[in-house]
Amino acid sequence: MGTANSGAYLIGYVIAAAIAAWVYSDAKKRGMNAVGWAIGVFLVCIVCLPLYLILRKPLLTAGMPGMPPGTFVTQLPPSYIPPPAPGATFAPPPAAPGRFCGQCGQRFEGTVKFCPSCGAPQA
Ligand SMILES: [Zn+2]
Repeated sequence: MGTANSGAYLIGYVIAAAIAAWVYSDAKKRGMNAVGWAIGVFLVCIVCLPLYLILRKPLLTAGMPGMPPGTFVTQLPPSYIPPPAPGATFAPPPAAPGRFCGQCGQRFEGTVKFCPSCGAPQA
C-alpha cells in the first residue's frame, strides 16, 4: 500500500521543500522571519503559502541594484529646474580688465608694448 504512494509523497516533499526554499529567500529579501516562514510553508504548505503571499511585506528594493528605473522613485517632471536661492545672482562676475599674452598666455593689466612675463611684443 505504502509502496504505490511513496513516490507521490516524495514528490510532495520535494515540491514543499522547493516552495519553502523560495519562501526562505523571498522572506529574507523582505526582511521577514525567513526561517519561520520556510518551516511553516514546508510543514503546512496549503495553509502557510497563501498566508505568506498575503502577509508578505513589500520588497526592500530601496537603493538595491537591478531594480527597473523609476519603479519606486517619484520622478521629477523633465522641465524641473531647482528654484534659485533667494537673493542669489547668476550674473557672471565682471571681466577683469587686461589682456593675455599671445606668446605665453600670461595676463597683464592695461596695454603694454611688451609682455611683462616673457617680453614678447604685444600688438
Ligand atoms: Zn608673454
